[in-house]
Amino acid sequence: MTPMQRSDLETFDAVVVGGGPAGATAAHALAQRGRSVLLLDKAGRIKPCGGAIPPRLIRDFDIPEDLIVARAQSARMISPAGCEVDMPIEGGSVGMVDREHFDEWLRERAAAAGAVRRNGVFAEIERDAAGAAVVCYRPNGADKTAPVEKVRARAVIGADGARSKVARQSMTGADRVPCVFAYHEVIQSPANDEAPTFDGARCDIYYQGRLSPDFYAWVFPHGQTTSVGVGSAQKGFSLKGAVEDLRRETGLAATATRRCEGAPIPLKPLKRWDNGRDVILAGDAAGCVAPASGEGIYYAMLGGAYAAEGVQEFLETGKAKALSAVRRRYMAEHGKVFFILGVMQHFWYRNDKRRERFVNICKDKDVQKLTWDAYMNKRLVRAKPAAHMRIFFKDLAHLLGVVSPQR
Ligand SMILES: Cc1cc2nc3c(=O)[nH]c(=O)nc-3n(C[C@H](O)[C@H](O)[C@H](O)COP(=O)(O)OP(=O)(O)OC[C@H]3O[C@@H](n4cnc5c(N)ncnc54)[C@H](O)[C@@H]3O)c2cc1C
Repeated sequence: MTPMQRSDLETFDAVVVGGGPAGATAAHALAQRGRSVLLLDKAGRIKPCGGAIPPRLIRDFDIPEDLIVARAQSARMISPAGCEVDMPIEGGSVGMVDREHFDEWLRERAAAAGAVRRNGVFAEIERDAAGAAVVCYRPNGADKTAPVEKVRARAVIGADGARSKVARQSMTGADRVPCVFAYHEVIQSPANDEAPTFDGARCDIYYQGRLSPDFYAWVFPHGQTTSVGVGSAQKGFSLKGAVEDLRRETGLAATATRRCEGAPIPLKPLKRWDNGRDVILAGDAAGCVAPASGEGIYYAMLGGAYAAEGVQEFLETGKAKALSAVRRRYMAEHGKVFFILGVMQHFWYRNDKRRERFVNICKDKDVQKLTWDAYMNKRLVRAKPAAHMRIFFKDLAHLLGVVSPQR
């Protein structure tokens, strides 16, 4: 590729590729700081997602009440043998959002702060004669032979989701991020008498090998609609077949289906999020989803906010180390949780015997309290050492099989 001449190309302080939670949050934060920002998004597809978000997200990112379409007051864990463990949330709830409206609202908030919104499909980053990044994209719907549009960027934020094209082009190893593939069907929520086990204020999570050999299946109510889905990394496993089974068994087979869609969920943060020069990744593009739960919206928005801070510092100082510091800061705060959840997934989701024990552990009130506190507030609770000790010994007993799963 011949280096381009420095011309009168439109130039932005930052081009954010991808207008999901990570990209829209980054664009908003930079625009608020007075930076010129282009938010480039491949429009036209609603992100497949269960849409569960913790109160910490609603608080920290000022999400208005009307975007919360339902509130889950508890979760029900269902074991391979059909044992049901209810985990009520004391003094709080999980917010449920519809990504169609949630993401659009985030993009519009960024635009209201001054970001330029453009629909387009990222193609590649070229370099001009001075070495600056030139982001090439095609208008939505144009085929790959159509000529590209170009804008110059002092910094690029790759927030284009799992299997990010920006990441694959700029970071080594980005094409080898381990993923779970998740598939869900968005259905009309059933009327009271249609599905006896359905509860519009409860998230049901199925830990059953036949529904998912290595992850879990779910029924997440969203008011008028409900997400019924499943994830697995196992090639050849029929996700559609599993959702069909789950819908039949829960009395949700006859309710109208609105959409069927799937997407990969990355389960390991990339080793590097920046190219040492002027590109940084955020959200799924950086591999930032909590293992075991697949929770990614909060982590994506936080990644977008951190990436924006790094870019702001980079633009002020010209020092690329401001970009590499972002990953260190983020992982110092959340790396431990990712590690623990990774070990949990690896150990407990391995076979039905372990899944049975895992669900059994969830009967413990201390486990429930600590789990909810960690999820809702995104912090590991240190305040109750006695509870941690009890859980540790109980876990150990379960691990060693000293405690019977039936108790
Ligand atoms: C089935 C399923 C259920 C899930 N359930 C939950 C849940 O209940 N709670 C939770 O917290 N997380 C859940 N997740 C994970 C969550 O959806 C993601 O972690 C989150 O959306 C990541 O946000 P993001 O902004 O990084 O990426 P995305 O939301 O994927 O956004 C990427 C954006 O980039 C755009 N884009 C992609 N390629 C290009 C391109 N070439 N050019 C321009 N734009 C581009 C896309 O159009 C999109 O707008 C679920 C995921 C799946 C697949």
